[in-house]
Amino acid sequence: MQIDLDINSPTHQITDPLFDAKGIEVFIKRDDMIHPLISGNKWRKLKYVLQKAQAEGKSHLVTFGGAYSNHLLATAAAAAKFGFKATGIVRGEEVQNDTLFMCRLHGMQLIFSDRDSYRDKPALFAQYFGADADAFFIDEGGASPEGARGCSELIDELPESYNHIFCACGTGTTAAGIINGIAQHQLITRFHAIPVFKKGGFIKNEIDEYLLTPIDYDLHLHYHFGGYAKTTPELIDFIKQFVAKTGVLIEPVYTGKMLYALYDLAAKDYFKPGERILAIHTGGIWGLLGMRERF
Ligand SMILES: *Cc1c(COP(=O)(O)O)cnc(C)c1O
Repeated sequence: MQIDLDINSPTHQITDPLFDAKGIEVFIKRDDMIHPLISGNKWRKLKYVLQKAQAEGKSHLVTFGGAYSNHLLATAAAAAKFGFKATGIVRGEEVQNDTLFMCRLHGMQLIFSDRDSYRDKPALFAQYFGADADAFFIDEGGASPEGARGCSELIDELPESYNHIFCACGTGTTAAGIINGIAQHQLITRFHAIPVFKKGGFIKNEIDEYLLTPIDYDLHLHYHFGGYAKTTPELIDFIKQFVAKTGVLIEPVYTGKMLYALYDLAAKDYFKPGERILAIHTGGIWGLLGMRERF
C-alpha cells in the first residue's frame, strides 16, 4: 500500500482589527485539516518514518508518549489506516483518558511504563520487542531526520510568499523541517519558533541538529505560560476569543501559545506595515478533551 494522505492543507486569512491597524496580513496554514486524527505536523513527521518501516518489511510500529500524546493518537490512526500493528508505550502509571481510549479504539496495544524506565526508550523497546523481527522503533513525537524531511514539504505547498512563518515547537523537529524547506526554496522568509516549555532555550540545539544548512531564525522564549501543558486564564481567554471570532479551533498546549505570541508581537509593533505573516496550525485539537475543566 502506498503510504500517503495526498493532501495539501489549505491556507486561510485571519482578519482582526489589530492586523488592520498595524497594516499587516496574517494567514494560517490549516495542517489541522490534513486528517481528523493523523493531524498536523504528526502526519508530516510520520510519513517517511512509515515508508521506511514498510521498505524494511516491518509490520509492527512501536512508539512512545505521554498519556495525552497527539503523537500516540496519530500513530494509532495511521497504523490502522496503513495496515500496521501498533504498540504505544505510555509514560507513567496506568490511566484511562479520551486520548488513550481513541488509541485503543484504533487497535493500539498500550504498555504503561514508570517514569524511570521510560527515560531509556531503546532499552524498553529491546525489553518488550527485542525478539520481534517485525517491530519498528519510532521515537517519542516522531523525532527523526525522516520527520524533519516530511515537515520541510510544508513549504512546497505554500501558495504565496510570506515575510514571517510562526510555529509552536516541542521537540523542534517540525521547526527544523520548515527551516530546511525555507532554505531549499531560497526564500527570504524569517522563521519564528515558539517553544511551549519553560526555559525553552535548549530547543535551539534540538532544532540545529536537524538543519541541513545553518540558517538564522528567532526563538521566542516568553510564551510558555508556565511550562508544558500549563495555562493561565489570559491564555484561555485568548483561545476562547480566537475560536469564537475565527471558527478555527485551537488548543492551549501548542497552537494557542504560538498565536498568542503572534498577536502580542503584532500589538507591540514587531512587524512592519505591509508584512505578511503565516502561522502554522499544527493540529492536535483532541488535546482539548483533557482540558475541559480549564475553560
Ligand atoms: C507535537 C506537536 C507539536 C510539536 O512538534 P515538534 O516537532 O515536536 O516540535 C506542535 N503542535 C502540535 C499540535 C503537536 O501535537
